[in-house]
Amino acid sequence: MIVVLKNGVAKEKREQLIGWLKNYGLTIHISEGEFHTVLGLVGDTSAVDMDLVSSLDIVDSVKRVTEPFKCCNRKFHPDDMIVEVGGVKIGGGHFAMIAGPCSVESEEQILAVARAVKASGADILRGGAFKPRTSPYDFSGLRALGLELLRLARAETGLPIVSEIMSTAQLPLFEDVDMLQVGARNMQNFDLLRELGKLDKPVLLKRGLANTLKELLMSAEYIMAAGNERVVLCERGIRTFSDYTRNTLDLSAVPELHELTHLPVLVDPSHATGINRLVAPMSLAAAACGADGLMIEVHNDPLKALCDGAQSLRPEEYDALAKKVRAVREAVKA
Ligand code: PEP
Ligand code: MN
Repeated sequence: MIVVLKNGVAKEKREQLIGWLKNYGLTIHISEGEFHTVLGLVGDTSAVDMDLVSSLDIVDSVKRVTEPFKCCNRKFHPDDMIVEVGGVKIGGGHFAMIAGPCSVESEEQILAVARAVKASGADILRGGAFKPRTSPYDFSGLRALGLELLRLARAETGLPIVSEIMSTAQLPLFEDVDMLQVGARNMQNFDLLRELGKLDKPVLLKRGLANTLKELLMSAEYIMAAGNERVVLCERGIRTFSDYTRNTLDLSAVPELHELTHLPVLVDPSHATGINRLVAPMSLAAAACGADGLMIEVHNDPLKALCDGAQSLRPEEYDALAKKVRAVREAVKA
């Protein structure tokens, strides 16, 4: 249920209504827009006399929210949410470029990539320290050392860092990481989502390989319902019968999610395609259809990469792409 208040309602009257609604055991989400204040009611509203609420002189309208996701529902927050990551804004017209290697492999590698992407205007540095690998025999990351090297790269370049967390046991290691990534395979790790909901830290939530948009939003809801509103969604391709690409990039998810939720939506064209030469065209398409940013894998020596070399861009390729992305954004703004 949402209650839209009239313009210019006195704070006192508003607080009175909120207090009264809270007496019914409801949680109230307040969204203050330019023109309206929206109260989002979460919980069992069946005992509340909505006709009475509608008739109040401070209330503009009352609407039922039928979707199972409430906190991340755009009806609760008509304005775009801007999520800040170490001073970088994502969403609401702020476009973020996240770049870096699939995995942190060595000091030399992460520093080389970090310096290069920074020079090309990247906003945030990515790098996996804990890697979810399909085979248990593959390189699965430098773990704590990987995070330490990321911090080193941050200290040198000033770029905020994002890295994937795979379990709640790893939480203490991530204290000083600017943004926590929940990977596709963990999108429905509900215990992990609940714990991330207790933090005051932005979370990058990637869509699962075989998950619907509603399921993605319900996972965001887990984090937000636990108290952490700073969620950024990421479309990274889904499983289809396409046999030439690693996944199928579902670009229509971007405008669709923008309609359903106020959360920022990023696109990861690297995991979506798995192929170096497809990363640039899909990035441009993502920028054109309204994504709030891109997450792109970049490696200084892709042939020697320990993970995902085939989809990694060389620094010079990333540089050329970043320029084109800026041009596309300018073009679609017009
Ligand atoms: C990654 O970004 O490093 C990653 C493993 O991506 P995904 O979870 O989308 O497969
Ligand atoms: Mn990867």
